[in-house]
Amino acid sequence: MKLAFESRSQNESFARVAVAAFIAQLDPTVEEISDIKTAVSEAVTNCVVHGYKDCIGKIYITAKIYPDNRVRIIIRDAGCGIPDIERAMEPLYTTCDTGERAGMGFAVMEAFTDRLQVRSTSGKGTSVYLEK
Ligand code: ATP
Ligand code: MG
Repeated sequence: MKLAFESRSQNESFARVAVAAFIAQLDPTVEEISDIKTAVSEAVTNCVVHGYKDCIGKIYITAKIYPDNRVRIIIRDAGCGIPDIERAMEPLYTTCDTGERAGMGFAVMEAFTDRLQVRSTSGKGTSVYLEK
């Protein structure tokens, strides 16, 4: 499954619901759907508020179901990128200075999925890989 949409905050719920609809074919539990929606939502929000901080850009999501019924979801932006991924993934770390953000997005993604991987290049963009 592939999706491409603009980094507008209204599209966060669209992305979350679209991924949930895609995985519905696996007959997941309510909890599993909720976990995936939460993780996707955090990743997409990051693309909107960090990746494309001062602009609107494209966000891409691909999702694939494997024969063992595992799902892999990739959320990608072509925004500013993350200079230090390890640091960015530490709980409570945030570059937001308005106090609006808790720095918990990656921790939430980690907690609600089985595997989280982040690849990023400064100035080129960020890809988040989620597995459940
Ligand atoms: P919260 O998610 O709790 O609202 P947050 O977004 O700051 O706060 P994380 O989601 O954990 O916390 O992200 C940590 C930091 O990693 C961000 O503050 C930002 O600097 C950087 N970051 C995360 N995703 C991206 C992205 N797609 N592009 C650029 N920087 C990112
Ligand atoms: Mg976040």
